[in-house]
Amino acid sequence: MTTNPILHLLKNAYNITGTLSRLAGENQNYLVESDEGMAYVLKLAGEETGTSMIEIEHLAVEALIDAELGIMLPRIIPTKDKEIEARLKTGDGTLIRGRLLTFVNGTAWCTDVPASRQRLEHLGAVIARMTMAMSAIVHPDTHRTHHWDLACADQHRPSIGIIQDPVRRQILEKVFLWFEAIAKPKFAGLPRGPIHGDINDDNVLITGNQVAGILDFGDCLDNPLVCELAIALAYHTLDEPDPLEAAARVVGAYHRLRPLSPDELTVLFPLMCARLAVSVIISAQRRAIDPDRGSWFVSEERAWKKLAQFSEITPAAAARSIAEHTNLRPYENQGTAMAVLAEKRKACISPSMGLSYKVPLKMVRGKGQFLYDSSGQPYLDLYNNVCHVGHCHPHVVAAGQKQMARLNTNTRYLYDGLTDYAGRLTATLPGELDTCFFVNSGSEANELALRIARTVTGRSGVLVVDNAYHGHTQAMINISPYKFMGKGGTGRPEDWVHVVPVADGYRGAYKGQGKDAGKAYGDEVGSIIRKIPDPPAAFITESLLSCGGQVIPPDNYFKTAFDHVRGNGGLCICDEVQTGFGRTGTHFWAFERQGVVPDIVVMGKPIGNGHPMSAVVTSRKIAESFANGMEFFATFGGNPVSCAIGMAVLEVIEQEGLQDNARDVGSHMLEQLAPLKERHPIIGDIRGTGLFIGIELVLDRKSLLPAPKEAAWTVNRLKEQGILLGTDGPFSNVIKIKPPMVITRHDAQMFVRVLDQTLLELKAPG
Ligand code: PMP
Repeated sequence: MTTNPILHLLKNAYNITGTLSRLAGENQNYLVESDEGMAYVLKLAGEETGTSMIEIEHLAVEALIDAELGIMLPRIIPTKDKEIEARLKTGDGTLIRGRLLTFVNGTAWCTDVPASRQRLEHLGAVIARMTMAMSAIVHPDTHRTHHWDLACADQHRPSIGIIQDPVRRQILEKVFLWFEAIAKPKFAGLPRGPIHGDINDDNVLITGNQVAGILDFGDCLDNPLVCELAIALAYHTLDEPDPLEAAARVVGAYHRLRPLSPDELTVLFPLMCARLAVSVIISAQRRAIDPDRGSWFVSEERAWKKLAQFSEITPAAAARSIAEHTNLRPYENQGTAMAVLAEKRKACISPSMGLSYKVPLKMVRGKGQFLYDSSGQPYLDLYNNVCHVGHCHPHVVAAGQKQMARLNTNTRYLYDGLTDYAGRLTATLPGELDTCFFVNSGSEANELALRIARTVTGRSGVLVVDNAYHGHTQAMINISPYKFMGKGGTGRPEDWVHVVPVADGYRGAYKGQGKDAGKAYGDEVGSIIRKIPDPPAAFITESLLSCGGQVIPPDNYFKTAFDHVRGNGGLCICDEVQTGFGRTGTHFWAFERQGVVPDIVVMGKPIGNGHPMSAVVTSRKIAESFANGMEFFATFGGNPVSCAIGMAVLEVIEQEGLQDNARDVGSHMLEQLAPLKERHPIIGDIRGTGLFIGIELVLDRKSLLPAPKEAAWTVNRLKEQGILLGTDGPFSNVIKIKPPMVITRHDAQMFVRVLDQTLLELKAPG
């Protein structure tokens, strides 16, 4: 009996005697040279290699041999007992499992680079034919995943932090954002099937200008088919002087045999980059385990170099280059060039309409939590609370399109949509709020709320909260200190407007007093009412103060304030334009957090997910008292299309559990943000509930001296890194977070990582 158990296994299972030499690479592979002059490869299976994996590998190679691709493949040689795997128990009881493969002769692609045009094209053709041939494989366990699974590249996103160099981390953040925003949303619509999963430049053997063989089917799994090509491109362009030109050669040849769809072409570049990102992260992880294992790091520095180069290219430019030898024209119709458009805008749009960011963005598309600019760059939108259920949500879009094609009329006719929608909307509110008016914007809805309060009480005075914004019409500007005290404002315009202080737990007279602060701020409302000669018609307030700086009023505030207002015969109006529809996570309406019920609720922004509509909901009693004979009619308010859209929004919030998502992701984000306050003295306060969060920047934590310049710099820098945010509050020093409700924990983590780094970079802008 031979002493080497592997030789023993060879003899036992295959009747082969000869010599063994270990092959380079990650796995335990041996070259077997038999005494009869034949060469084989013996692959030992680790514990992680299940039998089904070996079956899949066998099926894949057999399918490719059947397809006659003209290349050599590592065919499994059955044991004497016709098994695909040989097993041997050694003397000490260890089980050795191995499979014998035919030896594939040739040199690895990576030993002869850069490649000729002919060889690149041959590679493209081989991959296309492999992709088609492998669709014949049927095995339930191809539906598996592993840490190289490109369709799940985002599993490595939380590990970006292990990379020490901040510039390299920034590159990875960008690449994962491309993966998340460009590739992943398209996966559901892409053709899938079993792929090799690791066509790297070590696994492709060449002779001359031809691909001679493909090795190592151990990563085979079900994936979008285009992932096969993307993986091959990631590695086979590593040593090319013009990697996209080389990629275009491969893609052109592939496309001639297996035409790519436009979506497949669009995701190719982000997927190539994602593969390199996964590779460098796994290398970094492995370095911590065994820094001397050379075979683990063969691609590492080359991959970093390419990632640095690729991260400077826009997704649109990359896709256009890669498509050069196909008939596809990605990213066509991006419209007028940005600089030209900015000039055009100056000529025909009012100068009082502003643009966000130092260098404005030209947006061409939105999906979910992402917006895409004309260069194909995606942005994580953490700012838009209008596209509540996600930009261009297909259910909402379809509902609008369907109704628009069927009937659009007005509330002077009977139609089901109006009452169905009103019923569903009021079902989200406390029972007494059961009667609706529909209009078209937040401003218009607040106007109507004010008119109702005045008509019902016969009074004109209004109590408003300092720094509040309620709309752009004349009356709304008059009750919006944010505007009348702000730039271009002329101060409190009329003696019917009375400003009460912000119930602010961070700044303000009763800061830091918790529950007592709520009562104290509420009592301030009472004392102001007592001071004014005519008792007011209404107290209007947001349920959480948004433009006022993402302020969460302390408990007991609304109850105390409402008691004073009602005790003096006034009505209480809650403006839920920014805060409603589940954003707070804990409640559907933000006023519910304090256990109060307003007399009138105003809704806007998210109600139509971007379609212009708004609502005022009140009690039957108040609505009847308002109905004094003057008809209320708003031409577009409550039209069938708006009702269909509003209904679809409510359906999505419920079906996709978006209120729960707001609670989960919001609290996760707050948890992740908390340590940043320890590290960055500029963070004065972090506050919020659900997906309504504010980060207040101060120059001094004692005096609370605001840091508006630094806040502006930060949001501009975040925008450069693909995150959209804005600042607000009376000192413009609060970073406002109010994203579409579909953001994920991964998005929140990415934001916190990038913010952390950005605050390190922060220096007073010049
Ligand atoms: N109320 C609040 C709290 C708002 O934030 C806004 C808009 N920013 C409005 C009312 C006015 O809404 P719209 O712009 O739809 O008229």
